[in-house]
Amino acid sequence: MILSDCVNRLSPSATLAMAQKSAELKAQGVDIINMSVGEPDFPTPTHIKEAGKQAIDDNITTYSPVPGYLALRNAIVDKLKRENGLEYAPTDISVSNGAKQAVCNALIAIVNTGDEVIIPAPYWVSYPEMVLMAGGTPVIVEGTFEQDFKITPEQLKATITSRTKAIILCSPSNPTGSVYTAEELEALSVVLREHEQVMVIADEIYEHINYLGKHASIANCEGMKERCIVINGVSKAYAMTGWRIGYSAAPTAIAKAINKLQGQYTSGPCSVSQMAALAAYTGPQSCVKEMREAFERRKNLIVRLAKEIPGFEVNDPKGAFYLFPKCSAYFGKTDGTHVINDSRDFAMFLLEVAHVATVGGIDFGSPECFRMSYATSDEKITEALQRIKKACALLH
Ligand code: PMP
Ligand code: GLU
Repeated sequence: MILSDCVNRLSPSATLAMAQKSAELKAQGVDIINMSVGEPDFPTPTHIKEAGKQAIDDNITTYSPVPGYLALRNAIVDKLKRENGLEYAPTDISVSNGAKQAVCNALIAIVNTGDEVIIPAPYWVSYPEMVLMAGGTPVIVEGTFEQDFKITPEQLKATITSRTKAIILCSPSNPTGSVYTAEELEALSVVLREHEQVMVIADEIYEHINYLGKHASIANCEGMKERCIVINGVSKAYAMTGWRIGYSAAPTAIAKAINKLQGQYTSGPCSVSQMAALAAYTGPQSCVKEMREAFERRKNLIVRLAKEIPGFEVNDPKGAFYLFPKCSAYFGKTDGTHVINDSRDFAMFLLEVAHVATVGGIDFGSPECFRMSYATSDEKITEALQRIKKACALLH
């Protein structure tokens, strides 16, 4: 009765809920390996931390402009040009409290009540909830395991209606690690060009954790930049999840709307963090490459170990730091205490029996799978997969 319809419509974030559960068990002394929340296990590189400390000493501790400091927006404009071949003006950039706020800002800025927003599944848990928050209707289109979890142009075509306002495309993908190639993005663009009213929210937060080589942005496809809101930030590429800096790059009118919204809601993001992000974008980029190489090595390790577990079906991710195996072979089985009805039960079983925290696929729109974040050490990955294999052997 007290709470709003808006908040009652929302589910809590499953990734954060599992991370919290894992932290609680850890605090009780249980030896948990946490593969639930997706964040780099590396510390923020030293030169970036130093820039943050310097910002405090320089008293850069007051409100920043709502869209972020001009110096940072200029650095983002340079990044978009240098790395993505995209031309933006600083007025097109809105810096926000993480890429999470950037996605939410974008949706609230463009979605009207009843508008449909297409979300390819498996999807990041927060997308449908954010669409609901904006008053829109999430329309899920499934990229199957056999399709490497990617949607086809035919599926996109069949899903667009006159109510479709936008599609959220995440590549490299959380939770599957799948990456759309430039050719695949162009094929989706062919369909989108037939429907001018459909905007694209391109979540590219895992851009630099890409094992294919070069990242492809749909904003580079003909006619797309004008209706694209590109989302990115420093959280994953520079191991800066706690600093909370993300951004959107959008057509100026949309950027203005995002700034109006942000100005009434949160103001500009943390001043100190913005200075650290400036150092991330303008400083040496070797840290990005080193972390990507570590993630790729770990990806190869976890794929090999997961393939050895009976009942798992495993894709070979091309980016991000998640593995999303099918575990449905275990549905209907029990160890005598736990009954596995779905992937949420399976993740709970792994937490309680193997002491490994993962996230069930249900919350990612893919009930047959579960997600492991391999942004952790090789030793922990090896130990976790041994524990999972042992626990699965208890299920009959
Ligand atoms: N998009 C995706 C696909 C993500 O996985 C995340 C990670 N939380 C975000 C956006 C949000 O990133 P940030 O931590 O910068 O808010
Ligand atoms: N993106 C990360 C994840 O999916 C962080 C948690 C969150 O914000 O959902 O685990």
